Amino acid sequence: MSGRGAYYKQLYGGRGRGRARGGPPAGDNSDGSTGYSAHSFRGTKRSISRSDEPGGAQGSSDDLLRKVRSLGGKSYPAYRDLQGHWEYPTFQLYVDHVQSDPYAPPSKLRVRVPRAVAGIPPGLFSNKIRTVALCDYLTREVCALLDQKFAGRSRGQQSGGGGWAGEKGGQVTVDRPGQQVLERSSVVLTRKDDDSDDVEAGVELRFCVSLPAQGRTILGEQAVQVFADVVPALARSLLYSSHDATRMAQFVDCVEDQEDLRRQIADAGLVAFVPNGAVLPRASGAADTPMKAARVVPFQSPPNLERTFVLPHRGPISGMAIPRGITMIAGGGFHGKSTLLDALARGCYNHVPGDGREFLVTSSGCVSIQGEDGRAVTNVDISPFIGDLPGGVPTASFSTQDASGSTSMAAGVIEAMQALEMGADALLFDEDTCATNFLIRDRRMQRLVSADPITPLVYKVRAMLKDHGCSSVLVIGGCGDYCDVADLVLEMRDYRCFDITGAAKQVAQEIPSAVPDHEASRFGSIRPRYVQVGSLPSGDKKVAARKRTAIEIGGETLDLSALVQLVHDSQTRAIAAALKHFHHSSPSVASLKELQEDLETSLDTEGLDAIVQQDRIDGFLARPRSFELAMAINRLRTVSIGYNGGHVLR
Ligand code: ADP
Ligand code: MG
Repeated sequence: MSGRGAYYKQLYGGRGRGRARGGPPAGDNSDGSTGYSAHSFRGTKRSISRSDEPGGAQGSSDDLLRKVRSLGGKSYPAYRDLQGHWEYPTFQLYVDHVQSDPYAPPSKLRVRVPRAVAGIPPGLFSNKIRTVALCDYLTREVCALLDQKFAGRSRGQQSGGGGWAGEKGGQVTVDRPGQQVLERSSVVLTRKDDDSDDVEAGVELRFCVSLPAQGRTILGEQAVQVFADVVPALARSLLYSSHDATRMAQFVDCVEDQEDLRRQIADAGLVAFVPNGAVLPRASGAADTPMKAARVVPFQSPPNLERTFVLPHRGPISGMAIPRGITMIAGGGFHGKSTLLDALARGCYNHVPGDGREFLVTSSGCVSIQGEDGRAVTNVDISPFIGDLPGGVPTASFSTQDASGSTSMAAGVIEAMQALEMGADALLFDEDTCATNFLIRDRRMQRLVSADPITPLVYKVRAMLKDHGCSSVLVIGGCGDYCDVADLVLEMRDYRCFDITGAAKQVAQEIPSAVPDHEASRFGSIRPRYVQVGSLPSGDKKVAARKRTAIEIGGETLDLSALVQLVHDSQTRAIAAALKHFHHSSPSVASLKELQEDLETSLDTEGLDAIVQQDRIDGFLARPRSFELAMAINRLRTVSIGYNGGHVLR
């Protein structure tokens, strides 16, 4: 039986159809997020039946509309009668969860159009990346439709969602994507269920509706409008014929090209490729959209670094190739260094056409490291960078609830290198956000302060490459010692990029630094760490993503603001879901790598639905990288994690 077939089998298990009467109250997460309320994943898996049982429709769309009309004037909980599966003439509607009152998080619905009806040419979803691109595209189109169609009536939009508001409530939200094209749960291609002739392969859209009410009284006409007007419009937006075929194909091709380019640069021994003509600066510090054209200096490769790759759809593309090794990005203040590095950090993702960074690709294993004063560190061997601390505190298994800038960076680097086996192969540093004493120590400081336990990165960065194959890209404005260790030195000058490696080597000779005397010949070993899975946030605690950079766990906040490669709050929600998923589905002790692999495998086989309870299909998730998952685990304040496989002690 296919994975999906098994999934449905387990779900329906031959029991009568029904609304999840026997299960827990469906999704009463009164925290205003799309988080998950607290109960055991394992314990409820079998006791819950979902509303989309084959052949188990509650009735036709006419039945539904009749029912909706009859609800007018009743008290809000009567909406629960809508829960279930309804057959419209050309599509199915699933009302998975009905909110308990008008102020609760909105109700969760899905429309599924059979693929034969949707008519999307199979070439647009012929492989994984094309499917991801297609579903992402459809999500964007649905958001645009909601914006347009209901623009005049839009009121009090839920932040981040495409919204529609009826006269009193009735808001419809779909997860609104950002500039990156991600695997999402908002639109998915469902497979045919092998066990049933009734469940056809389909195109499914997940959305939320805040069901209309006046006080706690159901507004019948407004509710009818949702089901008679909005829902069919959403279903129509999944039809191929509703779209500009050329634009759709170009979008999918463009994303596949970026994915292909990322593979090509890896094969060519590069960590990054920046195409000529790329627009790197953003509209503002708070926006991820491109800067307006008039002010932009488009990227142009220094001639000697230029390479050309041939993409499957677009054909040849030329730009700057950054090889594996140590790359330093120098330049004066405000000349575009951080802008380049930020673009490189996001180059592990594909971007929408028109973003300006499409075809700027970085190794999918690049990890940004920042100083994070105050973060928690649990049992990390930071001894490659930091010797015994004041009071003789050893650093071979270092823990703190309040790291300093330098110890947080040391832990961050070691933790990232523990993901080497998961493909982490390049670290990105920006002097602006790094602790200087972690980056360098000059001759004068060495003379003045002899008791510093830190071996700065500049002494280790080459050993990191030699011993562990880990490249580095560093933005350096002030720490000239890096001239000694860099293989490639770029200069950003007036937003233009120059190769100044020769000049940097010359300066390094003329003005010697302490680096040659102190450089480490060995980096030190990197050992796996193991997690006591029971110490991950459990079902007893509320775990909910608050925003892109924070997850709330039982009243405490897990701060993820240093994870700059977490690019959408839907990824953060998926990490929150994955943490709870592990708690119930993994062995009691697992290495971080095993947890990362577990996540990847689940997502590869079942998609994002794999990490949520099966009665809680959530259209507001996007796939995070496994690195960010590990980074979140590493920052948990109460996690039991360490080097000792069987006996993890805090
Ligand atoms: P640095 O890190 O060198 O101090 P930044 O990268 O922060 O400089 O860039 C400084 C400013 O210049 C930012 O406001 C940024 O948006 C703008 N900028 C960066 N690159 C370009 C470019 N190619 N064209 C136009 N403006 C740019
Ligand atoms: Mg800067």
